[in-house]
Amino acid sequence: MVYTAYIEVQSKGRRDVIDITARVAEKVEGTGIRHGIATVFVEGSTAALTTIEYEPGLVRDIDIFLEQILPYAAPYRHHETWHDDNGAAHLQSALLGTSFTVPVVEGKLTLGTWQQIVLIDCDTRPRKRKITVQILGEK
Ligand code: ZN
Repeated sequence: MVYTAYIEVQSKGRRDVIDITARVAEKVEGTGIRHGIATVFVEGSTAALTTIEYEPGLVRDIDIFLEQILPYAAPYRHHETWHDDNGAAHLQSALLGTSFTVPVVEGKLTLGTWQQIVLIDCDTRPRKRKITVQILGEK
């Protein structure tokens, strides 16, 4: 069976890190799938999905790390194309990725205790994000 569910998130932008683990788990558990995979995907080229230990220190570390390698204020060719200001956000998204897959075993996501699924909205302004959760497997 294949199930598709959606999660909507309002972000503040500027690398807002939002823990969506409980919402993804709820979608998976709602299907009754016992064994399979869950793919999580965010629409848009300035947001990212990954897993981290969701605690304030690491959330800040991610922000500092991305600013060091892809600062918002640097000159990007993308700004010349569209007179846009979010070249860094596109590159941060491309670096982190917009999708990943989690195995589902015995009806649960196989995440570690200190491993949360997070949306990182890299854009320079608040955004409403649509995340697709597709669950494939057997009951
Ligand atoms: Zn752009």
